[in-house]
Amino acid sequence: MPLRPAIARYDHVLLDLDGCVWVGDDAVDGAVEAVAALREAGKGIAYITNDVRHAPDQFVRKLWRLGFQASLDEIVTCGAAVQFVLAERRDGGAAFVIGSQALVDHVAEAGLRVVNNTEFATRADIVVVGTHSDFDYRELRIATQAVLRGAELIGTTRDRTFPMPDGPWPASGAVLAAVEEATGRRAERTIGKPEPHMYETARNRLGTGRYLAVGDRLDTDVAGARRAGIDSALVLTGATAQAEAAAADPRPTHVADSLAALVLR
Ligand SMILES: [Mg+2]
Repeated sequence: MPLRPAIARYDHVLLDLDGCVWVGDDAVDGAVEAVAALREAGKGIAYITNDVRHAPDQFVRKLWRLGFQASLDEIVTCGAAVQFVLAERRDGGAAFVIGSQALVDHVAEAGLRVVNNTEFATRADIVVVGTHSDFDYRELRIATQAVLRGAELIGTTRDRTFPMPDGPWPASGAVLAAVEEATGRRAERTIGKPEPHMYETARNRLGTGRYLAVGDRLDTDVAGARRAGIDSALVLTGATAQAEAAAADPRPTHVADSLAALVLR
């Protein structure tokens, strides 16, 4: 399938997942064909997601299940970026993690002692805030007490929501905001888009060339691409409506109704 000329000039395409490639458990209409066409045209592809609920191999399995080709080294997750950033600290310490098992594993792999479910949880040196479907008040309390005792506060993302078939669900930014409100402290850093870490990871894997980042959010996908110095495409299959897209400042390089409308001629 031929690509639109505006897209054919890029060497590599960074694809957001939620609201761009899929919504919930369904592929976005035409997305499978669009990604296949990019591959056929020899474009480098990375799937780059702020979703901290799953490990990279789980994303690979879901992509294949929905009809996409994907390999493990094409998946750039926020959890992997958290691991990279924490591993660079080289001073170890104890961490309390609000997040899925996948995020807990990434923190442990970075060399930190995870103290979730121990009596030392409120004395953690670092609190890492993502989210997961069983998030509860107890975790908010422990995170609050640890931060007020002096723990460093690291957020995975500031995403407010992610799109699901029944409407937006609260994302890790909403949980981070709860910890910040309770403690009166702002996270020292966040790791996911629009911060540069995940873009650097993708570039290290794919190499030099002209990059396009595609996603459904202005505050993460478009802002992040701009900060990374690459072109952006906003698709209207997720968090952003046509009117917001038209009023956006800075403007995305491209705006399209969907990934398929962006890519396919
Ligand atoms: Mg998205």
